Amino acid sequence: MKQYRDHYFKRAKKENYPARSVYKLQELNKRFNILQKGQKILDLGAAPGSWTLFAAKKVGDKGHVLGVDIQSTETEFPANVTYLQADVFEDSPELLGAMEPHLPFDLIISDMAPKTTGVKFTDQARSLELCERARDLLPRRLKQGGNFVVKIFEGPDVKEYRESLNTIFSKVKIFKPKSSRAESKEIFVVGLGFQGGEG
Ligand code: SAM
Repeated sequence: MKQYRDHYFKRAKKENYPARSVYKLQELNKRFNILQKGQKILDLGAAPGSWTLFAAKKVGDKGHVLGVDIQSTETEFPANVTYLQADVFEDSPELLGAMEPHLPFDLIISDMAPKTTGVKFTDQARSLELCERARDLLPRRLKQGGNFVVKIFEGPDVKEYRESLNTIFSKVKIFKPKSSRAESKEIFVVGLGFQGGEG
């Protein structure tokens, strides 16, 4: 299958990242400069672990990345990473407990995606639900002035979702990485400067 053998796939393999998606985070970081030494980061939809690995490298020994995904992963992470297999829709004691020592986060990133069905309407609706859940996790967990990155499938609801972030961030931007597959309908909404209170 062509899509699994493209330039970014090969590059990821060579650079020891388990998925090509790492280049999307790299592009996001180049554009918005969101990853800094010493940060505490919550990475939602972290499997197989490319974003987590890249973020861990950027935050260094004094920083920490908590990766959460409903799936397990075989990826070996450095000491500044905690990986938790959990469903973000469940307020499980494991998830709440894993977040607790790192609160508030400097940055929350979500590359979460639903299992696609091929039915555009369904896939968009499920992507939106994941984005809403990620947004609902921000109060008391993202620090004031902190940043947020969330993947969303393009569709009629993006505008309203973006507007919902306008009220809690100083700036909200839309970004489409070059390394996203041409046929992919994903885009990233970036919230800069959290003003959501209680953070
Ligand atoms: N950022 C990852 C990386 O670089 O390796 C790739 C993430 S992949 C595109 C999307 C992930 O979202 C999948 O691993 C999927 O299991 C996860 N996901 C979907 N629904 C979820 C949920 N309810 N809770 C946690 N993770 C979820």
